[in-house]
Amino acid sequence: MNSRRNFIRIAGLATTIGLSGFETVFAGSNDKKMKPSGKGLKLRFLPHDLLLKHTFTIANSSRKTTPDMLTCLEFDGIFGYGEASMPPYLGESVDSATKFLSALDLSQFKDPFQMDDILAYVDSVMPGNCAAKASVDIALHDLVGKIMGQPWYKIWGFDPDDTPNTSFTIGIDTPEVVRQKVAEAAPYNILKVKLGMATDKEMVETIRSVTDKPLCVDVNQGWTDKNKALEMIHWLKEKGVVFVEQPMPKTAIDDMAWLTENSPLPTIGDESVQRLPDVIKAKGVYNGINIKLMKCTGMREAHQMLTLAKSLGMKVMIGCMTETSCAISAAAQLSPKCDWADLDGNLLISNDPYSGVQVVNGKMTLIDKPGIGISIIEAVF
Ligand code: MG
Repeated sequence: MNSRRNFIRIAGLATTIGLSGFETVFAGSNDKKMKPSGKGLKLRFLPHDLLLKHTFTIANSSRKTTPDMLTCLEFDGIFGYGEASMPPYLGESVDSATKFLSALDLSQFKDPFQMDDILAYVDSVMPGNCAAKASVDIALHDLVGKIMGQPWYKIWGFDPDDTPNTSFTIGIDTPEVVRQKVAEAAPYNILKVKLGMATDKEMVETIRSVTDKPLCVDVNQGWTDKNKALEMIHWLKEKGVVFVEQPMPKTAIDDMAWLTENSPLPTIGDESVQRLPDVIKAKGVYNGINIKLMKCTGMREAHQMLTLAKSLGMKVMIGCMTETSCAISAAAQLSPKCDWADLDGNLLISNDPYSGVQVVNGKMTLIDKPGIGISIIEAVF
């Protein structure tokens, strides 16, 4: 434990030195730094288990921590930060991410601007490992944005005033804890409720006993009978619910298409929609999709999914896992073009080493800061 602490302290010192170098770059002339120096990309990574403020319960699991891997990509004295959040039910772990990240040779890339080639290589090294891939993608975006001196929402041409309201998730719990969580969610204009248990109606009634804010509902594949699901959606509409996320198992495609056709509320695919090709498959099955960086390998593919879904006339929600402000701020760069944001993952943890995008009056407020716009609160590298 001591050696780990020492490592973190020494590594933190190295980061501080690197950062002061970075600040110097942007304080004065950065012509020299704008050109690739001929050095390769350098990747570092460190496990950082996220501690949850509340035990988190959804339809099929319950937990107090989320395994997480923090990454740092260096090029010519400039540092980009990334992260892989790995809730156990998605099949990735600190071990699998360590194996994946150790297998990468990014030193072969001499120009971080060649993002297509770099990320195609990262994707090709092993199948799966989507969160581990996202940790490299996010760090690369942060790095390139810093070299350009611009945040990604500006590089993509988005208006920061267009960010949607972000929802705050209320997990399944006792009525007393649910009331407490609703009180904590005071700054938010929209709440998200996890359903898919026998207590669904009780959960909604409990929330309704303390607030009349709009609700969105995430069933996490918890309903298996399409007729009962439709009945429930009608009931939820009466209760002020605005959309229903992943009501049925991802394998129940025909039932889901039927439900969407008959549903009085929009349906959103989450577990059904992982990566770019899934967007086409979701058309006609759902009204919209939930994009998450950890599912789709990061910001580059998320941006492609957003563009494709919009071109198909679908709604888009930008979501998250429990994550630090690093991945949340990265996802928030896309939020001005999304219909809904569900980016509260950083607020559910008690050991966030970064700060970044903030929620002000219920809306994501983007920061005019290069890259993904984060600051280091507690040095990890
Ligand atoms: Mg979901």
